[in-house]
Amino acid sequence: MRDEQCIFCKIANGEIPSKTIYEDEDFRVILDLEPAAKGHSLILPKNHYRNLLELPDETAANAIVLAKKLAIQMKDKLKCDGLNVVQNNEEVAGQTVFHFHMHLIPRYKDDNQKIDWEKSKPSQEELEAIKNEIIG
Ligand code: 5GP
Ligand code: ZN
Repeated sequence: MRDEQCIFCKIANGEIPSKTIYEDEDFRVILDLEPAAKGHSLILPKNHYRNLLELPDETAANAIVLAKKLAIQMKDKLKCDGLNVVQNNEEVAGQTVFHFHMHLIPRYKDDNQKIDWEKSKPSQEELEAIKNEIIG
C-alpha cells in the first residue's frame, strides 16, 4: 500500500535516503530534517495511511510499542531528561505530511523548546455538556 506521490512512502521504503535509526518489516524510524531537539525522530509505517484515523489497529499498537522502546533507548544513549510523543492529524492540527507519523522529541533541561497550547477554563457544566456530546 503505497502512494506514488508521497515523500514519506519513498523514505520509508528506502527510495529516498534518510538517517535511519531503526527499521523492521513494517516501520522505518528516521531523524527529522528540522529537529525541535537533538534526536527528534519520526516513526513511519512502510505502508501509506493518511493519519491516525486511517491507521489499522495492529499498526497503531505496534507504533506505540516501538515509541516506548525508542524512548528508553534515547534516554539511555542521548541522556535526554524527558521526551514528547507528538502526532498531528490534519492541517488544522499541524499535520504537514499526510502519511501517518509519530514524532519522538527528546527533551533536555533548558532546551527552551515549547510544545504548548493556550489553556481554557470551562465550567463543570460546560465539561459535562462536552462529555455528553462526545459519548452521546
Ligand atoms: P507534521 O507537521 O506533519 O506532524 O511533521 C512533519 C515533519 O516531517 C516535520 O517535523 C518536518 O521537519 C519533517 N520532514 C518533512 N519532510 C522531511 C524529509 O524529507 N525528511 C525528513 N527526515 N523529515 C522531513
Ligand atoms: Zn505515504
